[in-house]
Amino acid sequence: MSTAMLEIGDLHVSYGQVDAVRGVSLSLQAGQIVSIIGPNGAGKTTLLAAAMGLLPSKGRLRFAGEDLHGLDVESRVERGLCLVPETRELFGELTVLDNLMLGAYTKRLSRVTLRSRLDAVYGRFPRLAERRTQRADTLSGGERQMLALGRALMSTPRLLMLDEPSLGLAPLIVQEILSIVRGLRKEGVSILLVEQNARAALESSDHGYVLETGEIALSGESASLASDPRVQATYLGGG
Ligand code: ATP
Repeated sequence: MSTAMLEIGDLHVSYGQVDAVRGVSLSLQAGQIVSIIGPNGAGKTTLLAAAMGLLPSKGRLRFAGEDLHGLDVESRVERGLCLVPETRELFGELTVLDNLMLGAYTKRLSRVTLRSRLDAVYGRFPRLAERRTQRADTLSGGERQMLALGRALMSTPRLLMLDEPSLGLAPLIVQEILSIVRGLRKEGVSILLVEQNARAALESSDHGYVLETGEIALSGESASLASDPRVQATYLGGG
């Protein structure tokens, strides 16, 4: 049996008295796009933060067979885990180029390696290349999301965790971003995709989980989830 790239088992995450994630189990195989859908406050962001090491958690948390507990955020990044938060966390007053360079900060890289990573990101996002000297706060919403993705790619992740990449974007731009995400998978980057836009998430993923009040309510192949009457009624506008 092959080792899962990400394996989460009976995971619990609390904020003081608030149990935000309650016994969640999920797994992601290398090369997969796995989506987590669910309403506001279900615990999706909390789950990603725990996987990244930004919040303490209890339970099973393994990446490529290695226990993540005890590894700090930087060590998780070095192993190939990367999170693009919902807030994007760009530095508005810095240029596109400077924001991209910050994505590689955890590793001491040679100039040649940095240059080749930058070229790869510019190749994927020609619009970022055109705007490389522009301040990040002058970009459109879609371009900001591209910059957030590009910055994450500077750390050459094996697993990219995306928190609501479609948030605040027009439908056409959402499609563009998700097609970029599917393209990344073809290059061997696995994706854990958290979305409130259930339709777009299920269309773009292999497998899906529905998270409700901190627990997995349903899971399955994305296509079967999309045709599940419960998912249709609650998340797909009645189908
Ligand atoms: P959203 O899509 O709105 O971000 P979510 O599914 O990502 O929702 P979380 O943000 O993970 O949900 O929140 C899960 C639960 O934990 C909610 O009840 C929320 O109120 C609570 N929570 C989140 N952050 C904190 C915090 N810093 N302190 C206390 N409770 C929190």
